[in-house]
Amino acid sequence: MSGIKGKVVVITGASSGIGEATARLLARQGAHVVLGARRTDRLEALTKAITADGGSARYRALDVTRREDMQSFVEFALGAFGRVDVIINNAGVMPLSKLEVLKIDEWNRMIDVNIRGVLHGIAAGLPLMKKQRSGQFINISSLGGHKVVPTAAVYCATKSAVMAISEGLRQEVGGDIRVTVISPGVTESELAESITDPFSQKAMEDFRRIAIPAESIAKAIAFAIEQPDGVDVSEIIVRPTASD
Ligand code: NDP
Repeated sequence: MSGIKGKVVVITGASSGIGEATARLLARQGAHVVLGARRTDRLEALTKAITADGGSARYRALDVTRREDMQSFVEFALGAFGRVDVIINNAGVMPLSKLEVLKIDEWNRMIDVNIRGVLHGIAAGLPLMKKQRSGQFINISSLGGHKVVPTAAVYCATKSAVMAISEGLRQEVGGDIRVTVISPGVTESELAESITDPFSQKAMEDFRRIAIPAESIAKAIAFAIEQPDGVDVSEIIVRPTASD
């Protein structure tokens, strides 16, 4: 199936920011969107808004760090719509700090959500897509996957890992299954709210002045989905014009 209309698109981290903007945009373009995150009140409101607008949406509570949760989430989408065309591994956290502050719990959380979460999405979707002989993974990395910036060593490491995992997957599954990495620069969202370190909070305040709308990332995701089956958009970088 080419294009966006009628595709079943599973989105992790759909309760705010890029995931929410992507859900709205793809639903407007005729996709069946299946939304997952921990804040189900947000998902319920978003599902209602999309449905009121004439779109097709379902939601389910999801913690991507729990493999069985991710498995159930994909099975939920399959049960609702009979197939899964796209899995957008978007959920992420970014509690930045210098390594010397030793916020080890926050390092572990980034590894669990940003890396393990993506792997759980692949584990849940790959057997199904192989059986369908079609599908697409869209994994959200970051400009930070290309370049390490101060206070972001662990975050950037997780986003480099997303790129490495995606490229490995692409090499393995090429043919029937497409693999796309989206690498945003600073974008309007709630991501910086996970920062607890005061020095990093201040640095991020300055940085966020140039943030671009979450919908600009959603449009890049839509572009990757709407290509014909034989065309795999491997990576798109979208950043503020004023970005260094
Ligand atoms: P938000 O904080 O607005 O969104 C993050 C989403 O991830 C939320 O919906 C949150 O939902 C979800 N999430 C967090 N932890 C979990 C979990 N354990 N299980 C399920 N869902 C979870 O930030 P963004 O929209 O900016 O982030 C989306 C992606 O974009 C992330 O991967 C981020 O790293 C990446 N990115 C963002 C950039 C930016 O400047 N905004 C730049 C580059 C990349 P809930 O809390 O309800 O579970």
